[in-house]
Amino acid sequence: MAKQKQKINKRLIVVSNRLPIVISKENDQWGIQPGSGGLITALTPILKENKSLWVGWPGTGGKAPIRKLLDQFGSEQGYKLVGIPLSQQEIERYYWGFSNGTLWPLLHDLLGYCKFNLEDWQTYVAVNKKFARAIKKLNRENDIIWVHDYQLSMVGHFLKKLKVRQPLAYFHHIPFPSLDLLRRLPWKTEYTKALLAFDLLGFQTLRDRRNFVNTVTSLISEASILQRQRNFTLIKYGERIIQARNLPISIDFNEFNNAAHSPEVQDAAWYLHENLHERQLMLGIDRLDYTKGIPERFLAFELALEKYPELKQKISLLQVVVPSRTLDPYYQKLKEQLEQMTGRINARFGDAGWIPIHYIFRSLDNTQLIAHYRTSEIAFITPLRDGMNLVAKEYCACSVENNGVLILSEFAGAADQLGEKALLVNPYDIEKTADTIYQAFTMPLEERQQRMRWLRNQIQRNDVHQWLRYFMRALDGVDSNTDFS
Ligand code: UDP
Repeated sequence: MAKQKQKINKRLIVVSNRLPIVISKENDQWGIQPGSGGLITALTPILKENKSLWVGWPGTGGKAPIRKLLDQFGSEQGYKLVGIPLSQQEIERYYWGFSNGTLWPLLHDLLGYCKFNLEDWQTYVAVNKKFARAIKKLNRENDIIWVHDYQLSMVGHFLKKLKVRQPLAYFHHIPFPSLDLLRRLPWKTEYTKALLAFDLLGFQTLRDRRNFVNTVTSLISEASILQRQRNFTLIKYGERIIQARNLPISIDFNEFNNAAHSPEVQDAAWYLHENLHERQLMLGIDRLDYTKGIPERFLAFELALEKYPELKQKISLLQVVVPSRTLDPYYQKLKEQLEQMTGRINARFGDAGWIPIHYIFRSLDNTQLIAHYRTSEIAFITPLRDGMNLVAKEYCACSVENNGVLILSEFAGAADQLGEKALLVNPYDIEKTADTIYQAFTMPLEERQQRMRWLRNQIQRNDVHQWLRYFMRALDGVDSNTDFS
């Protein structure tokens, strides 16, 4: 049964680093389309109903007439986009520097990739302030202000300084690390104190929430725990009470499930498997990112072929890597590494008519993406660390024959909800991951079905609309307790 969509009667100001749009040029005509993804799908109806706003950086967009395109989007979609332009220097230091070069690896426990640069930090602070000023100008008394993610974690702090009075909400999409890791950040106190300006903070998992609470109560002497429940902690900070909640984000299950049943997807899925008689397809889909554990995954697959020769000719790893952050040297190096590893493993094990690793470096259109999910007997999703990993949930939603096996890293946020029936692995443990590939390959149909039914049910019950409802309900119970000091 279709669940009721969330209804609220207030204008929403959603704030994120990037606006949820795709700008493209076809036949010399610039066009603007809504982006895709669970968050956009879930928020769009309430944004439209309440003539809401989404504030963010429109991206560089080449020579696109940005303002005109944003206006066009507003009249077509029924909610407004407000672009915050960034200078080249801001893009380099706030976006590439502090957001992607410091916070991203640090918050994913990958200290070795972190750079700590004072100017990057200062620009990050300045850009957060710039966002806050723009929001202040747009804000009306009863608006809900909801900031998203690590690039903008200080916006709440500046909004409070600008005397914005309503409760401020924040959702942290990526992991929150342990105190021991966060302590490495030279600006750890300013960073964590700024987060306490929000009145409601959402995290993906219980571990993230606990790490956050432990960090603030350890680093900031005025912060203490007032109450701790299964899903939330109340933190007392001076005169204010702040709520930290674990609220795992999800997908629109029905949208994926329905699409997987469509004739186009069925055809595309059939073509994918046509040349793979009696072969199982093991799917990896990731953005190009060192957090995704793709080299470790290739090594585990190589070891599985070595340890279990009966896998040869009978299984192929189909690895889709979506280009991302390709200007960053770490990402360029990773791309080269993956190409080399693919070549080496295929040369070592490949045979006439059988390629062990099919490696694709591009994004897939929606039909192809869902066909890949639907037709693959195994999903092999092994990030070293991941806030949630929506691919894991999308795979299950599209496994409409209930026969897919999900191999999932224990360090993905999704493992908290799916761990009971997924095959959990530690991606650093190559040996056991190789054994798990064999376990998935040999799993009897009945067990596959029993596990997949449970996984699909779990995701359907906790879809992105449910997530939004819970978040809004939590926000309803929060006071701003505004303290403008
Ligand atoms: N995705 C996509 N095109 C592709 C492959 C993947 O749009 O060719 C989407 C996929 O459907 C998923 C998202 O990219 O919604 C990846 O989200 P995830 O949480 O797994 O990882 P992230 O990239 O956010 O770290």
